[in-house]
Amino acid sequence: MDKSPATRNAVLAFNDNINIISCYFHMMKTVKGYFAASSGNEYWETTGKHELHVLHLSPNLNVFSNLAKLIIKNWVTNGYVEPATKFADGYLCSQWCNWYIGSVGKPGVGVTNNLLESYNNSIKGLIPTSVSIISFVKDKIQLLANYYSYSSNNDKIVNNLNQIELITQLNIILPHEMIEKSRKLFSNNNNYLKYEDNYYINASKYIDNSMTIERITNHLSINNNNNNNIINSNTIDEFRYNFMSMHKVSITTTPKLHYNCDCKLYYHNAVICSHILAIMMVDKVLDFDTIFASITGPRKRGRPSGYTSALRK
Ligand SMILES: [Zn+2]
Repeated sequence: MDKSPATRNAVLAFNDNINIISCYFHMMKTVKGYFAASSGNEYWETTGKHELHVLHLSPNLNVFSNLAKLIIKNWVTNGYVEPATKFADGYLCSQWCNWYIGSVGKPGVGVTNNLLESYNNSIKGLIPTSVSIISFVKDKIQLLANYYSYSSNNDKIVNNLNQIELITQLNIILPHEMIEKSRKLFSNNNNYLKYEDNYYINASKYIDNSMTIERITNHLSINNNNNNNIINSNTIDEFRYNFMSMHKVSITTTPKLHYNCDCKLYYHNAVICSHILAIMMVDKVLDFDTIFASITGPRKRGRPSGYTSALRK
């Protein structure tokens, strides 16, 4: 809901077991107003908006609270004490700070990317236009059911079908951009590193930055621990590079070999993302030429209509 203490109290009086999520969009609108009132329109447009956008991408509360402290410090240093105070009082307090969690309850995933939207996207992405949705669902639903289901807290649980088997059997058309990203990640071995049984791989914004143990340890320090005092970055970009510039690809072998990633795309489809594809190539589970020749070429958003292979295009 939008920030309304009265409505909040009413809902909690009715049922105190409800998790109230405040709205990101309205938070941004309100904070823009704080800056306008302090003659900070330009700062908001060039810097403030970007800072809150990055804050919104925080993968967990520890990243969120550390980054929030840095942003507040920046605003105060730049003379925007009032917007900083109002934002901290209004949107970082325990009652209202959960705007960053979004309606899916998963940090870093936008409010519009809830489960229904995720299904809608998956269906649009998976089913070719020439196939009727009804016949696709009738034919393939059992495969998907064998592949994953939902746990009580809405996490997708992968059952007993390997993801490559699923892709093959469903004849899934992988988006061209995903293949291209994975090719870039794979082609430079600075992009990934195996550390303690997991692979760490550059997020797409950070392609070709050298992956080092030092970077991974830094990343883990804030993502694994509940340490509320790790600000050793001076700027948002530095913070992002230190703590939000990579994804973890983990591998499970039971019930079947399965690659998992902590990125948002994988959260949505629980099947594949560019990071997993790249690591599959590293592990030689997949071979790039085969997959590149078998997928369709570039396509627009929505249900796929083209059948030309990427290699031909
Ligand atoms: Zn991923």
